[in-house]
Amino acid sequence: MIKPIQAKVMLSHVKQPDTWFGLKYNMNLYRGCQHQCIYCDSRSECYQVENFSDILYKENAIELLANELARKRVKGTIGTGSMNDPYMPIEAKIQLTRRALELIARFRFPVHIITKSDLVLRDLDLLRRINEVYTAVSFTITTADDQLAKRLEPAASPPSARLRAIKILAENGILTGITMMPILPFIQDNEENITQIVTQAHEHGASYILPSFGVTLRDRQRLYYYNKLDRHFPGLRQRYERQFGNNYFAPANNYEKLKAVFADLCEHYGIEQRIRPYQPQTATQLPLL
Ligand code: SF4
Repeated sequence: MIKPIQAKVMLSHVKQPDTWFGLKYNMNLYRGCQHQCIYCDSRSECYQVENFSDILYKENAIELLANELARKRVKGTIGTGSMNDPYMPIEAKIQLTRRALELIARFRFPVHIITKSDLVLRDLDLLRRINEVYTAVSFTITTADDQLAKRLEPAASPPSARLRAIKILAENGILTGITMMPILPFIQDNEENITQIVTQAHEHGASYILPSFGVTLRDRQRLYYYNKLDRHFPGLRQRYERQFGNNYFAPANNYEKLKAVFADLCEHYGIEQRIRPYQPQTATQLPLL
């Protein structure tokens, strides 16, 4: 089901300093996500999205955003893509993300986007304009194997398409890289997978990779994930239950080894493990006469 809803506010303040992406504001134009990744954390009860496969779009988002941007005194990075993908298939038609970016460009705010879709390239013109201030685009890539990704992230662009998008953005001078999270125990926690992702990141011009070696699991999210494991990876649910019980975090096997392999490769290729955040321009000091 796809239906419109009315939002009350578009930009929520990030309360704690955001050490990952340097965000000041969060923006969600949709609720629910069509990509339907089997491990998606946004299914957790704490986010109060009752049926995650229902897609709700915020019909009044652009009007609200225009008002809020006009009133904001502090220019800080607006992040989008943590609770749903701003470039899920419906965006091709509704263009909420595009229209929000037009406003962000007009009000000269910095932006950080997380996506698993190469539809982001449609908005290259706007991303380039916003980049006069600051643009960063992070593609979540958890495997470089398109076939495996089809089982894990069924409706997202294949990783090969995401990598091609990284290349195009990088060639256009836009800061871009990878959020390599989660790394799923028993499925993706092997050296070959990590090596492939980092090598391909390098070949496609990624500046950074942010890793998380493991997956968080809680309530509805765990339930959904385990049902999908039963379907696509028979016998794996039982291994998870034995090894992780009800733990919130299920770490990758060989956690330390994988981290070391990852760090060595990043150093070898000159890939950062952090994103260069937006730095507000300070007025140039005039020399005292
Ligand atoms: S793209 Fe992100 S928000 Fe959408 S289903 Fe996948 S993990 Fe969840």
